[in-house]
Amino acid sequence: MKLIFLGTSAGTVTSERNVSALALDLIKERNAIWLFDCGEATQHQMMKAKISLAKLEKIFITHLHGDHLFGLPGVLTTRSLMQNMSPMTLYGPKGIKQFIDTVINISSSWLTYPLEIIEIEQPMVLFDDGQFRVNCAALSHRVPCFGYRIVEHDVSNKLDVAKLSQQGIEAGTYYADLKRGKTVTLDDGRVIDGKAYWGEVKLGRKLAILGDTIPCDAAIELAHEVDVLVHEATQKHELQDKANSRGHSTTIEAANIARQSQAKKLIITHISPRYRLTDNPSIIAQCRQVFANSEIATDFYQVEIE
Ligand SMILES: [Zn+2]
Ligand SMILES: [Zn+2]
Repeated sequence: MKLIFLGTSAGTVTSERNVSALALDLIKERNAIWLFDCGEATQHQMMKAKISLAKLEKIFITHLHGDHLFGLPGVLTTRSLMQNMSPMTLYGPKGIKQFIDTVINISSSWLTYPLEIIEIEQPMVLFDDGQFRVNCAALSHRVPCFGYRIVEHDVSNKLDVAKLSQQGIEAGTYYADLKRGKTVTLDDGRVIDGKAYWGEVKLGRKLAILGDTIPCDAAIELAHEVDVLVHEATQKHELQDKANSRGHSTTIEAANIARQSQAKKLIITHISPRYRLTDNPSIIAQCRQVFANSEIATDFYQVEIE
């Protein structure tokens, strides 16, 4: 599981940063890529990062501001030019379906693969397929904006084979399901819970990927004890009034959310175009005053989540 930042600038592109997009590489876990936000030129950034459009499984849009959205038509329609594309699901605030339908119709484009569009209007569990669970909650921005919490279910690579055979459950038959932690009904009618036969357990990883927001309770809840919190920090803290009046957070505010939610690591992104990459050390130093394990994302910055 790996995060790959594709765009880290707030509002407009700069010569150093593209606008918002973040890939979650789940190739090892499920042979898939999930994309969070899709600013202009995200498909160029994906190409440079060697992320395959074919592997895209889900796209989550935090809100409908252009710097998080305008790359989406390109990503969706370019994918249509490729052969045998798998179905995709797009999640985003109400209005996203109208945006996509309008762009596709007006430009006489079409999609060659099934695209399910799920519009979000309230906090909800978006899906839980037994491997991952994703839920969302409303943040506090100038337009409806959501943050996403991604939780991987615990897994076990080993079953307690001795215990299974002691109880007369033979190798093979049900093992794949038991390993996934499923409840299984045996031929003799016994119902057993796979998790009760797990050997070594690997705890699932947790992430929070938030959209634009001022500090809010929903951010703290979404980020509760996550391994990595991705939070915007548009301005340095001396520009707090300016940041907050436009629905954005500062460095110190993002770090406070990380501390209050007991996150293990904070990565700030969505950095104002007023700053250059040479400002990174002074920007991240503000976060680290409050939350030591803080990093600042740049385009193509990658983080493995163990
Ligand atoms: Zn933005
Ligand atoms: Zn915004």
